[in-house]
Amino acid sequence: MNVHIQTQNRKSLSMRVTPDGLVVRIPCHLDPSDDVVDQFISRGLADLEKHQISQNEDGLSREEIQQKILKWAKRLDVEVSRIQIRPMKWKWGSISSNGNMTLANAVLALPESLVDYLIVHELAHLKFDNHGKGFQLLMDMTVPDWKKREKQLVAMAWRF
Ligand SMILES: [Zn+2]
Repeated sequence: MNVHIQTQNRKSLSMRVTPDGLVVRIPCHLDPSDDVVDQFISRGLADLEKHQISQNEDGLSREEIQQKILKWAKRLDVEVSRIQIRPMKWKWGSISSNGNMTLANAVLALPESLVDYLIVHELAHLKFDNHGKGFQLLMDMTVPDWKKREKQLVAMAWRF
């Protein structure tokens, strides 16, 4: 499981499912290995599990999503070798360096604009393995309002 714990100048703990995994933010006075942090995470995960998506007819179909991936891959000039849409825990998607893309089946319930954002985010990782300047520039050029979409996607996580 992908859990990133960040210490911040804040009062409470928070948890979000980002395109790259689960991000837990904790106040500076807490140690990441503290029991309180453990408990917060397991409670949050149990909550997410309860809200796991089953199937949703409003979103795009698997075929439509696959077509989109191929279209964006062509535009970004990257190769996708395999596409899987399956249940994933606490992650929206992942991509391996050989172009094997996996998306959480929760994408089947997302609005099209967020699916596009997520696909481009994953494909951009074939060129950049971090979220540095190059990655951001590519995102700016491909999906100019990607930061807004990223916020919307992260906010969606609790409605899995
Ligand atoms: Zn990423």
